[in-house]
Amino acid sequence: MADHHTSQRQLFESQPQWVEDDARRGTIATVVLPDGVEKPLDYQVPESLVPMVEPGRRVRVPLGRANRERIAYCVAVRSGELPSSPLKSVVGVEDDSPLLSSRMLDLTQWMSRRWMARWGEVLEAVLPAGVRLQRRSRMAPLLVATGVLPARKPTASQLQVLAAAATAITAEELSRQSGASKAVISRLLRCGLLTQAGLTERSPKSGLVKNDRTLISHDRPEHLSPAQSSALEAIRTPLRADRHETIVLFGVTGSGKTEVYLQAVEETLSYGKQAIVLVPEISLTPQTCDRFRARFGSVAVLHSHLTATERHAQWREIAAGRVGVIVGARSAIFAPAPRLGLIVIDEEHETSFKQGTAPRYHARDVAEWIAKAERVPLVLGSATPSLETFARCLRGEWKMCALANRVGGSQLPAVLTVDLRDPKSRSLGAVSPRLMAGIKWALAGGGQVMLLLNRRGFATHVQCRACGHAARCPQCDIALTLHQPGNRGICHGCGLVSRLPGKCPACNAPELTQRGTGTQRLEEQIRVCFPEARVARMDTDTMRSRGSHERTLDAFRAREIDILVGTQMIAKGLDFPAVMLVGVVNADAALHLPDFRAAERTCQLVTQVSGRSGRGPLGGRVVVQTSTPDHPAILAAASHDYEAFVRSELPIREALLYPPFGSIVRIVVRSVNEQAVANWAEHIADQLRVEVATRANPVALRVLGPAPAPITRLRDRFRWHLQVQGPDGEILREIVSKVTASLKNPDNVAWIVDVDPVEML
Ligand code: ADP
Ligand code: ZN
Repeated sequence: MADHHTSQRQLFESQPQWVEDDARRGTIATVVLPDGVEKPLDYQVPESLVPMVEPGRRVRVPLGRANRERIAYCVAVRSGELPSSPLKSVVGVEDDSPLLSSRMLDLTQWMSRRWMARWGEVLEAVLPAGVRLQRRSRMAPLLVATGVLPARKPTASQLQVLAAAATAITAEELSRQSGASKAVISRLLRCGLLTQAGLTERSPKSGLVKNDRTLISHDRPEHLSPAQSSALEAIRTPLRADRHETIVLFGVTGSGKTEVYLQAVEETLSYGKQAIVLVPEISLTPQTCDRFRARFGSVAVLHSHLTATERHAQWREIAAGRVGVIVGARSAIFAPAPRLGLIVIDEEHETSFKQGTAPRYHARDVAEWIAKAERVPLVLGSATPSLETFARCLRGEWKMCALANRVGGSQLPAVLTVDLRDPKSRSLGAVSPRLMAGIKWALAGGGQVMLLLNRRGFATHVQCRACGHAARCPQCDIALTLHQPGNRGICHGCGLVSRLPGKCPACNAPELTQRGTGTQRLEEQIRVCFPEARVARMDTDTMRSRGSHERTLDAFRAREIDILVGTQMIAKGLDFPAVMLVGVVNADAALHLPDFRAAERTCQLVTQVSGRSGRGPLGGRVVVQTSTPDHPAILAAASHDYEAFVRSELPIREALLYPPFGSIVRIVVRSVNEQAVANWAEHIADQLRVEVATRANPVALRVLGPAPAPITRLRDRFRWHLQVQGPDGEILREIVSKVTASLKNPDNVAWIVDVDPVEML
């Protein structure tokens, strides 16, 4: 390559002046590598490739001393003077057309700064694998009748096939049109009456639902409630004016938020525009997806079981503007809708909207960026909005529409708290006498019961009665959870399954006790207490196979199950009118986690699950078992007053400069070597403190830690963490970038940076 450049220069030295000027000019492409190199790199574009190299396409470029060929994203092209040191050249173009619009390039660049991720990493994350691999749809052979005279008289079904194959047709279509089996078609192929006439693109299953008009259900209510109408109006106003605005629907469960989304989407479609609807997780929200499918003609449901090819097919349908409504989890926000008119995020408080691996983006913030750029309304809905969202409404940046009552006048259920500190409430195991009475009351009234226990497994730990030693995962600092059947100890951190010892490994005492109740034990206990009732359990252990959620929920809806025991999975937006009792077996399970959002999460979970009760004419009740009945999170959930919780929690956050009043950058350091982790974490913290001290207002900035993380060891890696906190996220990111850019970590240490973390363990 270098030789090539010198010879070119030598050649030009003997040329007239104008040629030399021209030689100094050229086309330069800036490219970003998906991994390895952090900084964007410049390459010269050879004349022959100039028409093909454009931002958003991928190109092949030589990299490093060995000039290994790599695929990179072209992010900018300019023509101008070439730098004095010669540039390497682009050697090829990968895509026929751009994979990313210029808006997507802007978005990904913004994301990379906002969450301190490498741009290339973000680019890879927003494109589904199938699109990156350019998976083409599989090809299917086309068949056509040859017109050869048959040796024997053809059967009636053969004649039908031959008639249908008068023009080229796929075997699948041929079989469908003629009603003949594949065997009949193969036979005709073998005896030369049919022949192959080229290939066609096989229509992939895209998960796309095209409804016939007749299939579209008529569940659309005649009238909206006054609160629904004003919420819809608040969305319509910016929608009609092509203006961005964020509207928060703060509505109790059953207040008709989904109906408002549906009608807002309907209006969006009527302008020929597209709508993106984000839900926390497709498999947990089948009812929401069904309602969108039932109401609209073409809905793309982007769920995690799609193959790469199916995803690619959907991507193209959306990009071609042939799909009006896109429903999906977090990453559906990147759907390439060319005529976007509306974005909706349902259950906006859910933590699944933040990605747990790099790039650690939050879909709510991405949605806001897109909605601003596209000048479209963003609708966030929840019965328990995140404090981040609540604060922005209080500051007047976002508009909050309250839907305070359930539609149709059904009352929110009465909530009874049971104090677990009272020995009487523990007399029957995990289910207190009052909860037991509640279950009996609901079953006797012909109703159904949901019991929430946010801990799976049988016993939460296995402990020696003599010395108190608890069995731990050999590679994590986590107590093993006992799972039945099989007496297996499973680590909920890494998933490792171990055999539990028969006696204490510490003191050899033979007595190990099974402590704490998980969903398995609760289920067993309920079956014993209510032998007549039909009981089912829903947690990640019972819901492993595809479609198992839907099956269990369908069975529950069909009243084939009386009591449903489960983890938070059962708390999501489900609407079962016959549920008369919801029991929260241990409301404190997550309250004392070392996470500043523990109270918020607890209040949200208890409120959400309580909202499943009493949706129908039978009425309903909720029993909440807790050891901290006076905690504001529990009190608020019990009185259906989420706002009261917000009012008590916001001042605490403000005093500590926690979000929403400040930003956090969390750094987690890992290594197999305990000393190396501590040293490196301390080194980073020292550097950060030095940098913070140079700032204009260092008082408002805090470096906390380093300290061992709450989970101190995971998969044989020791973990330490530290946090930088301050009122302005941008300044924090600038400080952390400046410090980390110059750090060269030892080989045995790895570390990650999480901006605005939602996971603190
Ligand atoms: P949310 O999303 O707030 O939980 P939904 O939109 O699911 O509430 O509404 C709860 C129930 O009330 C659903 O069965 C829905 O079909 C019904 N519903 C919603 N709005 C109306 C209305 N205006 N009139 C009659 N029924 C309605
Ligand atoms: Zn483990």
